[in-house]
Amino acid sequence: MDLTKTGEFIAERRKAKNLTQAKLAEKIFVSEKTVSKWECGKGFPDTSIILLLCEVLEISANELLSGKLLSKEEYKINAEENLIALKNQQARYAKHLLTLEYVVGFMSSLIFLISIFFSVYVIEPLAWKIVLVTFGSLSFLIGLIFTLLIEREAGYYQCGNCGYKRVPSYKEVLFSMHMGRSRYLKCPKCGKRTWNKKKIDK
Ligand SMILES: [Zn+2]
Repeated sequence: MDLTKTGEFIAERRKAKNLTQAKLAEKIFVSEKTVSKWECGKGFPDTSIILLLCEVLEISANELLSGKLLSKEEYKINAEENLIALKNQQARYAKHLLTLEYVVGFMSSLIFLISIFFSVYVIEPLAWKIVLVTFGSLSFLIGLIFTLLIEREAGYYQCGNCGYKRVPSYKEVLFSMHMGRSRYLKCPKCGKRTWNKKKIDK
């Protein structure tokens, strides 16, 4: 915060309201000397006075602290920048999850296939075959649960017919065909079955 700038701003607004230092001081219950001090940048209004001062000068506390009037656009730009930053943050998180989904899905399927292969062609004792198949199936199941969770957590699917966006249920994810990042789903809005593309950004 720049005390000189804030002081000049207080003086500017006071003059714009056709107030003398004495008149302003009277309105906000402080001494004329106090107002003079603020305007010279030698002090700043106490928090208990700020709101009253802002009301008299017809400015916001934000503007007082900035030492200038803020246009609606400046407020808007600020709000939009924050919104974009938030959206980017969410998109990065979703991308990260989807990469993880690929890796886990691939690894668990690979472990499953290798386990089945070894139990059928390599390992002889039946007990070991059972252990291997169980291990492989468990790995597959864990991978499946993990990808199901991510499918619901990251991004959404968009209907190929009407463009309707939504996150499918676990059941839909489990029982629908998929190719890469597309999934064959029935749209709850238009009722058509189409290939739905996975989207990350909303
Ligand atoms: Zn649709």
